[in-house]
Amino acid sequence: MKIFNSYTNKLEEFVPRHKGKVSIYVCGPTVYSYIHIGNARPVIFFDTVRRYFEHRDYEVKFASNFTDVDDKIITKAIEVEKTEKEITDKFIEAFLTDVEKVNSKTDYIKPRVTEYMDKIILYIQELINKGYAYQADGDVYFRVTKIKDYGILSNRNVDDLISGARIEVNTKKENPLDFTLWKKTDVGIKFAAPFGEGRPGWHTECVAMIENIFGEEIDIHGGGSGLLFPHHENEIAQAKALHNHSIAKYWMHNGLLNIGNAKMSKSEGKTILVKDLTVNPNAFRLFTLSTHYRSPINYTDEVLNNYVKEWDKIVRVYKALHLKLDLNDHIYGNAKIHPDLLLIYKEFLEAMDNDFNTANGITALQKLVKIANQMLRSNTELDVLLSVLKLFNDFFSVFGLKPDVIELEREDKKTYLLWEKARKDKDFSAADKYRNILQEKGVI
Ligand SMILES: [Zn+2]
Repeated sequence: MKIFNSYTNKLEEFVPRHKGKVSIYVCGPTVYSYIHIGNARPVIFFDTVRRYFEHRDYEVKFASNFTDVDDKIITKAIEVEKTEKEITDKFIEAFLTDVEKVNSKTDYIKPRVTEYMDKIILYIQELINKGYAYQADGDVYFRVTKIKDYGILSNRNVDDLISGARIEVNTKKENPLDFTLWKKTDVGIKFAAPFGEGRPGWHTECVAMIENIFGEEIDIHGGGSGLLFPHHENEIAQAKALHNHSIAKYWMHNGLLNIGNAKMSKSEGKTILVKDLTVNPNAFRLFTLSTHYRSPINYTDEVLNNYVKEWDKIVRVYKALHLKLDLNDHIYGNAKIHPDLLLIYKEFLEAMDNDFNTANGITALQKLVKIANQMLRSNTELDVLLSVLKLFNDFFSVFGLKPDVIELEREDKKTYLLWEKARKDKDFSAADKYRNILQEKGVI
């Protein structure tokens, strides 16, 4: 399996730190508002990464955090006259509802910053003890110049960064590039620490949580490309200071999802919230996964609607397969693998093994749709049809697609057979009646 490592800028062979196991951390949301479809992209993509590792029998340890301490949360709390906790509880719940809505798993490790506050404070204290951080009037800053290759992840040059950072005037810092580990605050929620009351900086939260959850360098650290700098660069700087590693062996970054060609951001007002999505979530997943994760996606209603049609096609043939097997009381035993299916499965594995090329993986799924339609038309053996169905199920479990197919009940089978007979007898009014019943129940 190969992964494009943003840290080295190279496609590299994936070698897990521990055989058969993989540890993954993805930066999660700051919980003060609903997420938009751009935020859903990393959720869907890294959920698919997890699912694929599971499909390949890896034991996956997956964590993604909630940033529940932040200036934006404090501002929001003041604005709506609620506590920070009321705000964050509400939006954590809303986030998980949205994650479920787009068929992503929610049974992963979900650390909240507030639950790790003592660990974060200890982490900062250690950085101070080792000379990588300094206190200044209640704040604590990281000494960027102590890290030799600072800027390596985001391909930035320290001198360029310094000239850029000079615009921000902060006389407390030794160097304009130094970033905040602890911020003295007067407004909103504060925490007691040896360096004074305040709250932690975002970059320390993630590293401290990773250290405590995984206890060592992890396999994969993921997030959106917008986090490369400064967030991930600064995460790495701290881990290098304390542990002399770069947090993860592989760094993965997904591209943005834009509306039309405009960047989706709250400030520009061009957003579509996940909670307001009305299309079938399976179609939305197909849409996001049909572009390679490192490339940007330009959202338009038209493109999304194409995937609504794609999904309909997939469901139609999947239902027909199910129905055929069900009607014949087929026992779900050993399936005979047709050589064409082996080829498609191989194509799928090759695509996914090559830096999670979900776009090509979905092409394999589309080929399966074609072949399944041909087989249904040409009286193919039931055992072979069963293997087609199983392959569909494999693809669905990796891509997180969930067709709603109901198991046929006795009564439905009777109705179906009556429908078939009425059609054969050209009794169109009876045929219509039975078809309506079957459609209403979602059988066909
Ligand atoms: Zn993070």
